[in-house]
Amino acid sequence: MFLEGKRALVTGSTSGIGLAIAQALYAEGAEVILNGFGDESEIARLRAGLGDAAHYGTDLTDGAAIEAMMGQIGAVDILVNNAGMQHVSPVEEFPVDKWNLIIALNLTAAFHTTRLAVPAMKEKGWGRIINTASAHSKTASPFKSAYNASKHGIDGFTKTIALELAQTGVTANCISPGYVWTPLIEGQIPDTMKARGLSRDEVINDVLLAKQPTKKFVQPAEVGALAAFLCREEAGNVTGANWSIDGGWTAE
Ligand code: NAD
Repeated sequence: MFLEGKRALVTGSTSGIGLAIAQALYAEGAEVILNGFGDESEIARLRAGLGDAAHYGTDLTDGAAIEAMMGQIGAVDILVNNAGMQHVSPVEEFPVDKWNLIIALNLTAAFHTTRLAVPAMKEKGWGRIINTASAHSKTASPFKSAYNASKHGIDGFTKTIALELAQTGVTANCISPGYVWTPLIEGQIPDTMKARGLSRDEVINDVLLAKQPTKKFVQPAEVGALAAFLCREEAGNVTGANWSIDGGWTAE
């Protein structure tokens, strides 16, 4: 178990990809710290399955709340900026409040957690920063202007901090999944049906899976395994990279 003795904060880990990353890091011996919303009894069940993991229900769209949370957590060795949200709408109808929330959560929150976590990582001479980006950090789809802008932004942010931290023992990388079947994907189906005038099956097969040459959804555990790899000692020279796990989507 190569992560014994390491502390990992995974944001947005009460569901979907973040939960799978937390499970993968825990399986390698890390102490995991959860963040995200959800039903209290369900979160208690998740915590119990992860060695009585601490959980912070902090809203990461609020910079001051992030600062308070990071102060309570203290030093972490691994920071996974994963919490994210989506909204599907033509740009001229895109609600301004949704734009602001998506940029705050998908991009600005990672800036805050990173700036607050980096000093302790530098002091220890070891750290791993992993940002869940998306295939939409490399390419775009219509009606997702805020999401695509935030994910292209997190790619640039990650490269920048990788360069700044290159000689400190701290790496920074993005993981860019294609479509992973999680509540985030399920939630965007009705708006995509509306925006494109399609049925549910047409959205799944002709919009979502049409992008992925494998014609399969990526599994959350596959993303977890990639995150665990990036935390290995052997990945110490992997930094500033944006790892696709998208069934070949961005190869086209
Ligand atoms: P999800 O909806 O299953 O999980 C999102 C998590 O973020 C949950 O734990 C939720 O409680 C938390 N969260 C939401 N708003 C929050 C807030 N304001 N403050 C704190 N936590 C908040 O979604 P997912 O599909 O697992 O997505 C996780 C990440 O993966 C996101 O960054 C998403 O953009 C990215 N991603 C997902 C897919 C996909 O196909 N599902 C593809 C590429 C990238």
